[in-house]
Amino acid sequence: MSKNLQAVRGMRDILPEQTPLWQWMEDRARAVLAGYGYSEIRLPVLEMTELFERSIGEVTDIVEKEMYTFADRNGDSLTLRPEGTAGCVRAGIEHGLFYNQVQRLWYQGPMFRHERPQKGRYRQFHQIGVEAFGLVGPDVDVELILLTARLWRSLGLADLELQLNSLGTPAERTRYREVLVAYLRERVDRLDEDGRRRLETNPLRVLDSKNPEMADVVAGAPSLLDFLEADSRAHFTAVCDALADAGLSYTVNPRLVRGLDYYARTVFEWVTTRLGAQGTVCAGGRYDGLVEQLGGRPTPAAGFAIGLERLVALLEEQGAAHGHGAPHVYLVALGAPAERAGLRLAEQLRDALPGLRLVMNCGGGGPKAQFKRADRAGARYALVLGDGELARGTAGLKPLRETGEQDDVATAVLPAVLAARLGVPQATGI
Ligand code: ATP
Ligand code: MG
Repeated sequence: MSKNLQAVRGMRDILPEQTPLWQWMEDRARAVLAGYGYSEIRLPVLEMTELFERSIGEVTDIVEKEMYTFADRNGDSLTLRPEGTAGCVRAGIEHGLFYNQVQRLWYQGPMFRHERPQKGRYRQFHQIGVEAFGLVGPDVDVELILLTARLWRSLGLADLELQLNSLGTPAERTRYREVLVAYLRERVDRLDEDGRRRLETNPLRVLDSKNPEMADVVAGAPSLLDFLEADSRAHFTAVCDALADAGLSYTVNPRLVRGLDYYARTVFEWVTTRLGAQGTVCAGGRYDGLVEQLGGRPTPAAGFAIGLERLVALLEEQGAAHGHGAPHVYLVALGAPAERAGLRLAEQLRDALPGLRLVMNCGGGGPKAQFKRADRAGARYALVLGDGELARGTAGLKPLRETGEQDDVATAVLPAVLAARLGVPQATGI
């Protein structure tokens, strides 16, 4: 016997019982993004490998060991996108979106990283990414954070914690790096293997270690905030003040870092303690150097990405499971003439009631079998057509979720009756 095929490790199916919650979350996100003037951009899942090497940087976990990279049939090296910012910047440069204009963009979709699969960490996962280009001031950093806070409110999520830091400018970081490296070298025996490697390749990322045995070393490290000069300090203060004005609380976390030179100033994360080790739901910040690094004109930029699997897990954890859009009506058609008339009636009702969810019985069957299917579909009403109803010009309307008799309703008034009983609007202008 051959072994059944399975999904690739770390790549999950999102099943029909789960998609209503995803769709609800995505609808909320779309509405919030529209409310701030962000436009959707749809980007390829595959990009040239070079794009990620040049943007994410060669000394990151992603490029060192997480990318799905392969040669296509022409021998070009392609990579399944591990994140969306690089592709978004590539598209912006390619289409001239950044010339003398502000762009507020968002995208959504699957990302791919070859990591060890565990709760909240998958090899295919989904993000909503949001990027603002052409704005240098702290106001847009604040806007991005307020947008995320509004999204959490709109989803009914109350206890995400906002962590904030400033990475300063590349020059400020260079001075900090020297002091940090000196500090870490004195304690090299207390670093784990990753820590020692990062000390050589990308020392700021030592601060990002999740190893509890290194917590002391990390906690005692000098703080980047002490190395900020006047402009960066003013930028950071403006962000903090505006968040306070908006009534948002936050924690300044000087260990919140990104290792690469194109980052600047503001970085933030939204974290929760409810999801175990994978507690960061959203991560973002300012990356003023990236557009230029990828060949565009210097363009300030800031953005963030939300990990949707983690957001969904949090929603589920808080009991936000969403009723799937159960059908309002299941049309039971008994006999060939009723089946034919039923298809017509179903289309007429969908015309008359645009919000109606109507499932037509397909595949025939007797009344018992069809009512059983209606019940299993979760429909609120069965609409019954048989020879008698056809002769009278009526349809039987029977409640399935509450007790009640089957009413014989003239098909001419059926839209009005269904609209009233289901609370769905009737189409106008037909
Ligand atoms: P982590 O430290 O958890 O590995 P990261 O710094 O690699 O996260 P980013 O590249 O900043 O993550 O991606 C933004 C968000 O995308 C993360 O905060 C997280 O919510 C989500 N995310 C990242 N990698 C994965 C993954 N493998 N599976 C599920 N979600 C992920
Ligand atoms: Mg990671």
